[in-house]
Amino acid sequence: MIRRIATSLLFALIALAGSAPSAAAAASSPATMASATSGVWYEIFVRAWYDTDGDGIGDLNGVTAKLDYLQSLGVSGIWLMPINPSPSYHGYDVTDYDAINPQYGTMADFDRLLREAHRRGIKVIIDLVVNHTSDRHPWFLAARDPKDPHHAWYSWAGPDTDLHAASATGGQAWHALGGQHYLGIFTGEMPDLDFDTPAVRAAVTDAGRRWLARGVDGFRLDAARHVYADFPEQVDDPAILQRNLAWWSSFHAAMTKARPGAYLVGEVTRDDPRQLAPWYGSLDAVFDFPLAAQLIRSAGSERNHGLDDLLGRIAASIPAGRDAPFLSNHDQERVMSQLDGNPQHMRLAAAMLLTLPGQPFVYYGEELGMRGRKPDPDLREPMRWHRDPRGTGESRWKDFSAGDGPAVSVDAEQDDARSMLAWYRMLIGWRRALPVLRDGALRVPAVDNRHLAAWELTDAGHDVLVVHNLSHQPQTLELAGPLARFNRVRLASQPDASIADGRLHLSAYASVVLQ
Ligand code: CA
Repeated sequence: MIRRIATSLLFALIALAGSAPSAAAAASSPATMASATSGVWYEIFVRAWYDTDGDGIGDLNGVTAKLDYLQSLGVSGIWLMPINPSPSYHGYDVTDYDAINPQYGTMADFDRLLREAHRRGIKVIIDLVVNHTSDRHPWFLAARDPKDPHHAWYSWAGPDTDLHAASATGGQAWHALGGQHYLGIFTGEMPDLDFDTPAVRAAVTDAGRRWLARGVDGFRLDAARHVYADFPEQVDDPAILQRNLAWWSSFHAAMTKARPGAYLVGEVTRDDPRQLAPWYGSLDAVFDFPLAAQLIRSAGSERNHGLDDLLGRIAASIPAGRDAPFLSNHDQERVMSQLDGNPQHMRLAAAMLLTLPGQPFVYYGEELGMRGRKPDPDLREPMRWHRDPRGTGESRWKDFSAGDGPAVSVDAEQDDARSMLAWYRMLIGWRRALPVLRDGALRVPAVDNRHLAAWELTDAGHDVLVVHNLSHQPQTLELAGPLARFNRVRLASQPDASIADGRLHLSAYASVVLQ
């Protein structure tokens, strides 16, 4: 097994080398320079990432210190979870939208991070958490006085309000404060801003403009659909959706005007791509939650199990090259845990993620195979740089819970061609070698084998077929009818993938890209 996977990496390199003439021919054009990016984003929890001043808490200088690692992984952008001051460890309740959490460093540190990232061709987006503020934000402290103008920045219960109503997120919607009750759909520490108040819209828009002026490349928009969906009955209300979309369209227009190309990706938790589609008129992308669940289901069961149907709906709903697929994020159990620690299933999940069109998101440590189950802090554990969890720079913000050994670390994996890290590097490299994997229009062919996942990707110059063998048994696929045009293995995760007599032969868990 060791020899086989090492050989497969070599084979993938040979396959790339085989394409050198066409790549070289186009190498001088600006379009090719731009297409050398993978389009892969990498989500970082700064507290857990890398500590440079010895206090045990990850910091912005630690992100800068590890940019070379991210560059070697091949990502083209990073998403920093909240970096603003906050009373919580996670930062999703902000007390100052214009400042840096002092535990993470200074604004000068952040400016240096931006410069160093951009120098390496890595974009930086930051979490913008504006559905709500912290209950310690000066705006909310002022709002407690009904005569203060900030009172109208938040929502307060009236005489007919049902104070026991549930919120759209399942908790309690209203929270007592003196003789008043305010809206906080997540917790009482997170009072919801009232976006019908023009001053709120102006303040949020101005905050966004200031970060773009500093040089950030865009925002991940926390709880984007809850700006106007506060209660369960509003979640599927088309009028509420339109109010959400109208606000985010105006915000998007303001951000694009401030910085052309600013990237806005929204957290919109829905179960079907058809519910995500309207958001593509207001934002650049929204995370593909339904696809995340399906990829893990298919990898874990070794069966297609509805993946074809879902990809068909995605192809019909989401503009080409705009999807934001992922496997798991800071709110979900880590994918390796969801797959019960099965490394082959994890590799298949990653292979599918990184051969799907759009801009995929990788959660830090996923590429090492880190595990993590709920509660939430255990999903956000220190990045494992060294075999020794007390090694230099390791965050010590919390103890490890998952029981991953020293083998799950950058030190152990970085020079090992069989490692999960090498697997991720190879797959991200595929996206740089073949931009159609990133930008192509998606089409799902009819394939009569429940152990295969297959899709076609097409752009102006390329036409490829991606095929994954989800199972532990060899599988074949007849390249007939519309698939007969694919007759060459361009990229392969295993050396023995072959086409003979119009049939594709794949060994267990193999992934290929055909031309
Ligand atoms: Ca530190």
